[in-house]
Amino acid sequence: MKTIAVVAVQGAFIEHEKIFQQLGCKTIQLRQASDLCKNFDALVLPGGESTVQGKLLRELGMFDTLKQQIVDGLPVFATCAGAILLAKTVANDQCCHFRTLDITINRNGYGRQLSSFYHVGEFGDITGVPMSFIRAPRITDVGKDVTVLSRCNGEVTAVRANTQWAMTFHPELSADIRCHELFWQNI
Ligand code: GLN
Repeated sequence: MKTIAVVAVQGAFIEHEKIFQQLGCKTIQLRQASDLCKNFDALVLPGGESTVQGKLLRELGMFDTLKQQIVDGLPVFATCAGAILLAKTVANDQCCHFRTLDITINRNGYGRQLSSFYHVGEFGDITGVPMSFIRAPRITDVGKDVTVLSRCNGEVTAVRANTQWAMTFHPELSADIRCHELFWQNI
């Protein structure tokens, strides 16, 4: 059985846990540095507020270890704020975080009017995936080793670079578990 560790310092982490449990995984929550000693096969960086999450991870003494684990190839499934944490460049924020994923991202990149919207699109080979965008970041550039998994009106909304998966929507907020399942199959 695979164990999925969900960063649980802030944001929508419980929804991810429920889906991975549905897929037959064991889930654990990472809340403090000592939790990082546990064994796990993959990591979830949930949606929420990237600034708060980055600050808490540093204050709790988890940041450097998590970054090293990601660099060393720990599979990571990052949604929304999680994608901001991974991004090499956050174009409109002085604060960058793990910087392990070669993308450029803009926080709250769809502006006020379009801050939250719904779209049905593709994720890799999967079609008809419901996608909720909530104060979503916008991916404006992807590095050469980054594969685009989904787009909405031409804009990149999900990417994969080897073991790092990131999306600007919230697959955990629908009953469709196929995005999580595809990741799980690739761990
Ligand atoms: N706007 C948030 C941020 O900048 C991300 C929103 C989300 O995770 N739904 O961190």
